Amino acid sequence: MRVAVLLEDRCKPNSNAFTYLKKYSGLCERECIQFDGDKCKILESACPVCFNRARHCPDNAVIVINLPEELDSEMSHCYGENGFRLFRLPAPRQEQVVGILGPNGMGKSTAVNLLSGSITPNLGDWSNRSPNWDEVITTFPRGELRDYLALLSEEGVSIAVKPQYIDKLPKIFEGEVNELLERVDDRGDIEKYSEALGITHILSRKLGSLSGGELQRVALCATLLKEADVYFFDEPSSYLDIYERMRMVRIIQDLSSMGKRVLVVEHDLAILDVLCDLLHVVYGERAAYGIFTPPRTTRTAINAYLEGYLPEENVRIRNKPIRFVRGRTRGEDIGLPILKWGDMEKKMGDFQLTTGQGQVRSAEVIGVVGPNATGKTTMVKMIAGELEPDQGWCTMEAAVSYKPQHVSTDFEGSVQLWLDVEIGTKWRSGEFHTQVIRPLQIDKMLDLDASRLSGGELQAVSIAICLGKEADLYLLDEPSAHLDANARMEAAKAIKRTMEGNEKAAMVIDHDIYFVDIVSDSLLVFEGEGGKQGHAVGPLSLRKGMNRFLSGVEVTFRRDHESKRPRINKPGSVKDREQKANGEYFYSD
Ligand code: ADP
Ligand code: ADP
Ligand code: MG
Repeated sequence: MRVAVLLEDRCKPNSNAFTYLKKYSGLCERECIQFDGDKCKILESACPVCFNRARHCPDNAVIVINLPEELDSEMSHCYGENGFRLFRLPAPRQEQVVGILGPNGMGKSTAVNLLSGSITPNLGDWSNRSPNWDEVITTFPRGELRDYLALLSEEGVSIAVKPQYIDKLPKIFEGEVNELLERVDDRGDIEKYSEALGITHILSRKLGSLSGGELQRVALCATLLKEADVYFFDEPSSYLDIYERMRMVRIIQDLSSMGKRVLVVEHDLAILDVLCDLLHVVYGERAAYGIFTPPRTTRTAINAYLEGYLPEENVRIRNKPIRFVRGRTRGEDIGLPILKWGDMEKKMGDFQLTTGQGQVRSAEVIGVVGPNATGKTTMVKMIAGELEPDQGWCTMEAAVSYKPQHVSTDFEGSVQLWLDVEIGTKWRSGEFHTQVIRPLQIDKMLDLDASRLSGGELQAVSIAICLGKEADLYLLDEPSAHLDANARMEAAKAIKRTMEGNEKAAMVIDHDIYFVDIVSDSLLVFEGEGGKQGHAVGPLSLRKGMNRFLSGVEVTFRRDHESKRPRINKPGSVKDREQKANGEYFYSD
């Protein structure tokens, strides 16, 4: 089956793509490329010549794909003749947490919408506005999924969904947290869940005044309060620190042991690993099509994902595997100190930050970890010279390039132009192109409007701009936010290579342990009580730092014997107890 997928936002009137397609729309007798007003249509039955014309459409606005015949009968949904296509579906299962792992733009949220009943699967017949449920059900092979869809069609299951984009919540609901929660509280459990999620102190705040992490926890709470049979969590860990991620894991697992079906879309691999019983991988081509694999055990699925090869499907999803290095130790004295600080203090409103003494050396990447609101950003801003410490000292003889936590742009023009303006021609070729631009897939975004990028795309470009500037010290605040698992690992490698190659140093704040493990040579650990006081310890060696940090969270890691990736031990398991007794929270041999 050959189809053309048209990316509509790249084909607006007056765009290059629009003009190009318009030019060819009249050329072929069969009208393979047509216009209905401003809307372009490329027929599935188009002739080879027209498919070829479409393939060469500027700005990569048309993706022509050849799908294997055996998928013909397995399309679950299609958004339109030239829209995104989804094949097969994951299956929510009783008493299990089922995870979905895959890149952005592959239909994960679409699957959540289909399985939660907010859209009905059209089996590829996009013209059919009200598909017949009986037909839908019998199309899927007998099994969990088919049984589930039958229940869904009879409204035999109640459903609760934590949507991906929580920043929309304050716009939909203008009141206080309390009012929102009371509205959905079916069981009278507000107290229990708001305590479990640590949000009791913000109940009387307006939704609009909350930080990202607070808003995420409120959204989780609202979902948990609903009495439902099936729970969907679309990217639940965004904005949460590792403590909150672990709390979220426990609460979601409790749901499944209460007999509920739970489906989770997540990009933090360590969290996905400890959270799920089974995992579906989704692969395909971004914005064009996605194919769900059958469920695999979580360990097998994540290892295959990191390896870049799905053996059962015989599909390569990445050219190179993602590798975790074991027993990495960096000589303490390597490199010249770029920056030193001592006993800094800073008061921000009711919050007080203190630091010990520390330094950053050239070619070193320092991971910065710790709970939300303990002063990580405040410290980075002092180093970047945006804030003055009240007490103590910080020597800065280095030029700083800084990527803030919340990235945004009002740049008017294409990504290409934005890069030119920010970092000159540097990104166009050579090392920077192979080490940063291509791995982050920015080469595919060049023609896009900078102001219309998705969260993940904007993050990738912002990282590239930060790394592309001439500086001695690079400060990156939460670069993994909005990136999918693959982009996270690529970003970690890109940051590391840039520092090693140019003898520069970086400080990277993040909550994703795999990301931190790959990127860091050493760790700066923040401790304290969020919003009240924080203290920066270190930098310590990666191993020491991880130990210190994880003992605070009471989480232990072991290494997977095959992939060498860190894996969270089940709380209370033999390994967990053994490692805690030995003080080995991060097993890194
Ligand atoms: P993911 O959650 O994996 O990032 P989504 O399911 O959100 O992916 O989107 C997959 C593709 O489907 C994207 O290219 C998106 O633009 C497209 N898409 C999503 N919703 C719609 C819709 N309502 N109409 C048309 N296209 C859509
Ligand atoms: P982190 O990066 O660890 O999440 P931050 O450094 O952003 O923490 O913030 C630490 C604390 O300082 C938070 O409680 C935050 O609300 C407070 N804070 C930050 N900036 C200001 C400010 N300009 N005025 C008052 N309080 C602030
Ligand atoms: Mg999504």
